[in-house]
Amino acid sequence: MAFLIVSIFPKLFVIELLFFLMGKILGIIGGGQLGMMLTEAANTMKSEISNVIVLDPTKNCPASKVGAEQIVADFKDASAIKELAKKCDIITYEIESGDSQVLKSLEETCEINPSPETLEIIQDKLVQKRFLAKNDIPVAEFREITSKDELESKINEFGLPVLLKTRTGAYDGRGNFKISALDQIPEALQIFKGQSLMIEKFVDFKMEVSVIASRSTSGEIRTYPLVENMHKDNILNMTIAPARTDDTISKNAEKIAHKTMEVLHGAGVFGIEMFVTDDNHVLINEIAPRVHNSGHHTLQSSTTSQFEQHLRAILGLELGDTKLIYPTIMYNILGPKNFTGKYKPPSIDLENTFLKMYGKLESKPQRKIGHVNLVDKSGLGMAKLLENIDILSNSIKIVPE
Ligand code: AMP
Repeated sequence: MAFLIVSIFPKLFVIELLFFLMGKILGIIGGGQLGMMLTEAANTMKSEISNVIVLDPTKNCPASKVGAEQIVADFKDASAIKELAKKCDIITYEIESGDSQVLKSLEETCEINPSPETLEIIQDKLVQKRFLAKNDIPVAEFREITSKDELESKINEFGLPVLLKTRTGAYDGRGNFKISALDQIPEALQIFKGQSLMIEKFVDFKMEVSVIASRSTSGEIRTYPLVENMHKDNILNMTIAPARTDDTISKNAEKIAHKTMEVLHGAGVFGIEMFVTDDNHVLINEIAPRVHNSGHHTLQSSTTSQFEQHLRAILGLELGDTKLIYPTIMYNILGPKNFTGKYKPPSIDLENTFLKMYGKLESKPQRKIGHVNLVDKSGLGMAKLLENIDILSNSIKIVPE
């Protein structure tokens, strides 16, 4: 027995040491649930990634609970970003609010993907829309707004309703105001006082969809099939994979996503959110330069999850298969509106149902604290799957501990 231990232990040690020497150190700006699932994917790729370090302001962030080291600092803290670059071989992000100027200045010393230049384009909705339009990628009509007069004249041009949007820093629909009548203009401008603005024609869409697309450092591009996104209070409620559209629309959306990846620089996974209009056109609403909530289904529905795909893309490995093997519905678990604080994590023990909690200690109203994937392995069909997710979602109760 002793002989066995002595002969096996050094071998394991040598293998671990080899992995450590060969693998790269990955830095992630942001250590929330996306950083956590990226870290979990990295943990299965030890020969390529020996260690993960995340930069996140919340102590014991979700990624740190699955083995990532953590630098506790604000996402925009220049000296913390520099420290991360010093410690890592590659930097990526799980949020789009990192400081693109600081990242640009670090490109010579550290590989950064997606490129800070792409991040900069995406961070400003107006610049992003101009970039897409310039590359003949379909978007809703839009204009920059710098004054009340300009807003009135553009509304005259577009007709009502329009969506007034803040150009930077908004998420979950927070920076949007739908103007349906001229007398709402003063209120809209008051709410966004001091912020850079744009307007968009209001799109009458019949469905919100997205494509998870990836490009590797070698230039290889792959897209996952089109999925359908349902929102509640402007927050993603569930993703239906595949989208319930006809083939022509899905193919068109995937083609648009592919073209977008060709024109954007840098490698990684991108979440490309789109509208399907009443007359079956596909328009891009916005791009996330990172793994995306609407791609969580890939953890069970596909051979390669979006998290592994992102790592494969930034490491320059061959991209994984993106085929959807099982139709799947992803349902987001949000903190209830009526309390903030510690909660009892739910548990689910059902066939083909995969619960993922993010290890967040506190529930806050509308905060994403987990998700469930309901996977159709036995050919139930989407209608039945929707019925089941309805029953399941009503049974998940987040209650104080
Ligand atoms: P965004 O802030 O661009 O991410 O948009 C948040 C949500 O607002 C989207 O998911 C849509 O439901 C809605 N939205 C955004 N832009 C438009 C638009 N031009 N027309 C209609 N709805 C929109």
